[in-house]
Amino acid sequence: MSILSLPVATLGTSRIGPRRELKFALESYWAGNSSEAELLEAGSGLRAANWARQKSRGATVIPSNDFSLYDHVLDTSLMVGAIPDVYGWNEGPVSLKTYFTMARGAQDGGHAQHGPGVAAQEMTKWFDTNYHYMVPEFHQDQIFTYASRKPIEEYEEARSLGYQTRPVLVGPVTFLKLGKSVNPAFNPLSLLDRLLPVYVDVLRELASRGAEWVQLDEPCLVMDVDEASRAAVRRAYAHFAKAVPALKIMLATYFGAVGDNLETVLALPVAGLHVDLVRAPDQLDAIVARARRDLVVSLGVVDGRNVWRSNLPALLDQLAPMVKKLGRDRVQIAPSCSLLHVPTDIELEIDLDPNLKTWLAFSVQKIKELSILGKALAGYAADVADELTLSEDASVTRETSPKIHSANVAGRMAAIDDSMRRRRSAFTQRADVQRVAFALPMFPTTTIGSFPQTADVRNARAAHARGALNDTQYEQLLKAETAHTVHWQEDIGLDVLVHGEFERNDMVQYFGEQLLGFAFTKHGWVQSYGSRCVRPPILFGDVSRPKPMTVKWWRHAQSLTKKPVKAMLTGPVTILNWSFVRDDIPRSETCRQIALAIRDEVIDLEAAGATMIQIDEAALREGLPLRKSQWKDYLDWAVDSFRVCSSAVADGTQIHTHMCYSEFNEIIDAIAAMDADVISIEASRSKMELLDAFKSYKYPSEIGPGVYDIHSPRIPAAAEIKQLIVLARQRVSDRQLWINPDCGLKTRRWEEVRPALVNMVAAARELRAEA
Ligand code: GLN
Ligand code: ZN
Repeated sequence: MSILSLPVATLGTSRIGPRRELKFALESYWAGNSSEAELLEAGSGLRAANWARQKSRGATVIPSNDFSLYDHVLDTSLMVGAIPDVYGWNEGPVSLKTYFTMARGAQDGGHAQHGPGVAAQEMTKWFDTNYHYMVPEFHQDQIFTYASRKPIEEYEEARSLGYQTRPVLVGPVTFLKLGKSVNPAFNPLSLLDRLLPVYVDVLRELASRGAEWVQLDEPCLVMDVDEASRAAVRRAYAHFAKAVPALKIMLATYFGAVGDNLETVLALPVAGLHVDLVRAPDQLDAIVARARRDLVVSLGVVDGRNVWRSNLPALLDQLAPMVKKLGRDRVQIAPSCSLLHVPTDIELEIDLDPNLKTWLAFSVQKIKELSILGKALAGYAADVADELTLSEDASVTRETSPKIHSANVAGRMAAIDDSMRRRRSAFTQRADVQRVAFALPMFPTTTIGSFPQTADVRNARAAHARGALNDTQYEQLLKAETAHTVHWQEDIGLDVLVHGEFERNDMVQYFGEQLLGFAFTKHGWVQSYGSRCVRPPILFGDVSRPKPMTVKWWRHAQSLTKKPVKAMLTGPVTILNWSFVRDDIPRSETCRQIALAIRDEVIDLEAAGATMIQIDEAALREGLPLRKSQWKDYLDWAVDSFRVCSSAVADGTQIHTHMCYSEFNEIIDAIAAMDADVISIEASRSKMELLDAFKSYKYPSEIGPGVYDIHSPRIPAAAEIKQLIVLARQRVSDRQLWINPDCGLKTRRWEEVRPALVNMVAAARELRAEA
């Protein structure tokens, strides 16, 4: 006898495979070691496994077309034929070669007119996740055609395996809004009427093949959008309702509250609405009260963005009255968003602390949770009584576990006061002290921290992890690499040196591994872009630093030279934003805990003699909430955390920070409030225009705008670098200006780095001589 349940939907799942099978299939194909047929075969194997996995865990509304060989936004560009001329496609099926050229660029081929080599499409972050999509590219005369039948093919493929799926498409409005136009004055939204017929073709074909529902993702509806965008949404969905009346549309919103777009959304002629009740639980009341009588509501109640197990009985209490009000036939339950953003299966983690493991739920555990909840909400709680108890027990043990709560950390948190957030003197006074102490030349030159992580370094790390290299051997090797790098920097005449960061696997993981409160998985991969995956640390408990983390490396490097060696730390906001963080206390609190740990390190570095300490906040900007109304709150605690970690030092100790992006216009006051002595930023591609924000703000501290684009293998000539510095001097005073690359050099090769930095130093010297 089958137990009744509410429909359990997943909005999409990870594509990469529990053991990163897709990554290896792609890389083998790209390297020419396997054929197109083998790659496609791997893809269909992964899809079949995905469908089976979801079904066996109790999902009843299973998606198709959520799979992608590279990126689902790129797939959408292909679907509608939005393929820029440079990729040489005209009509007919789009080849894999074209697809991957759009994704990754190519050394040869492309359109004859554009010379050898074709650049990839631009890539950027998908909303506030660490997933990156390929930015669609439109132009005024854009023509859309139904160029890829992938949604239909995958729907059919699932059907042939016995699954009636709900195909997923990126909604037309979100798709256009995510795109860019060569001409910035041209608004891609104006292409809506040209785009809709292609969507209608796709929807019609899906319907004619037997699809009952489709899921159209419009996450742009949780953002601040203008009236024109709302009008576009109304227009698009009215059009679909008329053109394909038999097909039911589940309009999916996620990553936040629909908020001021709710009225628009509730008036749409769609059959279903998915809402994110993890990020925005409060929106449910309004939806229940105001939704059309026949609207199916998909409740996104299990966190698709984080790794924690739910407290199912608590969820049940919360949801039962809502389900009652809506009526069971109008409810589906689902993760808050696609499961793309969490790893696949916690059971693969055999080395993880067994306690911690019971508190976690990855993709398959989340589906299981939904299926338990679905039964309980349908009135069959007795049938899942054991599971409900286990879920509650796990929540209780987690809440009260001594592994999570440290009285010491709590005490230190309570003791944070304003004196801990303030440097002893204001910047101008500190700058006077520092100027005398360092006696740096005009336009001091430095780098951002890391130097090339050569195959030797990476192999040594792997060998050390395997046990093939013992601690002493590994350390010897790293020390030698560091020494070589310090001497080389000194030889070419850089003014402020770095140790090179050879001992670090990753700028967050390296610190996480040395801090209490962090755990690391073996298989907890999530897709970052294409075949690239990351394993974010799991920040599960109160954070503290048992002992110094970087002092030894700094000391070694400084012992080799008389020039100042900048110590290198990752800042609290960046560590937070690149980890899975606890959901039992506010992010702001976790961030301050990390800040205290970094503060300890700063104090130890200073005591060891470090006079320059760089605290990288590479991820500060990307942590900005999707809604502007929430920016201030975020920036307040982010800046506060930075101040807590950086303010313990004497006036003569110079605090640097680094940020690898270039849009500061809207957050310049927060950047200034961080009160660093020197900030280095990515700038080389912006022709220094981003410095306008600093100029108009009258940013007081020193600034190192990147003058060497480290994202490209190209070696900039001294004259080019000089020109950038000239542009920078038009915007900030000579007294403020530092000369450095855009970012760390770890991904570059020494063959590129050597001449580029030599040219950078030469450019600075020439300008000094002229000044
Ligand atoms: N110090 C780091 C490095 O040089 C900074 C990296 C980053 O900003 N992403 O690698
Ligand atoms: Zn950077």
